[in-house]
Amino acid sequence: MKEKLYTIPVTEAFQSDCSCPLCAIRDKLDKDGVDYMMGPSYMEGDIRMETNKVGFCREHYDKMYHMQNRLGLALMIDTHLQEIVKHLEKDKDTLKEGKKGLFSRGSKEKPELLSFLNNISENCYICNKINASFERYLDTVFFLWRKEPSFRELVKNSKGFCFEHFALLLDKGKDALSKENYDSLVDTIVPKQIEIMRELEKDVNWFVEKNKYEHRNDPWNNARDSVERAVGLLAGLDMKDE
Ligand SMILES: [Zn+2]
Ligand SMILES: [Zn+2]
Repeated sequence: MKEKLYTIPVTEAFQSDCSCPLCAIRDKLDKDGVDYMMGPSYMEGDIRMETNKVGFCREHYDKMYHMQNRLGLALMIDTHLQEIVKHLEKDKDTLKEGKKGLFSRGSKEKPELLSFLNNISENCYICNKINASFERYLDTVFFLWRKEPSFRELVKNSKGFCFEHFALLLDKGKDALSKENYDSLVDTIVPKQIEIMRELEKDVNWFVEKNKYEHRNDPWNNARDSVERAVGLLAGLDMKDE
């Protein structure tokens, strides 16, 4: 049952007591991605060919660096650096061709070496894997929304979404769902999100007021942690760990 590979984690994320189920799915993919990279995967030739070509983003270098596997990271970086130096040495003169007219300014064509370098800057082996899996999970959310009345109940009873994933559901849902199914999604998640954000704004507003001298003796109500909750919602971060 290939379907279950995706439906079970999606259902579990929506059942869990988290602030955004899609963040929970993403966080799990992220953790698995880093663990996998720092596991025996870096010994596998085809994976190394890919990591040599694209490397990793700043965040994932940081995460891998802080895992206790300096040798594993060294092996990957070693061949990645070799790959970069090899390309630079072989094609460095093509960079100057841009100034000779062959790749004149404004021309869309770029020296291959620049494309190679940009590809490394803009890509990350782990992010690419996470993004591909996340798309499948998102498709599964829409699949379950169409097919499973019990999943609709789960969405109704969830605590809403972080801003990014709320916007993403509305955007992708427009193409993935029929008008009827999309309208019912909108009617389910938008009023709830308005309520959550309105409450949060009230708390943040009281946080601002509470810092004024005239309110120094008034109670905090729910405002004390409102900024961390608001940053959490807007940035999809769990600020409570800080
Ligand atoms: Zn989220
Ligand atoms: Zn990354």
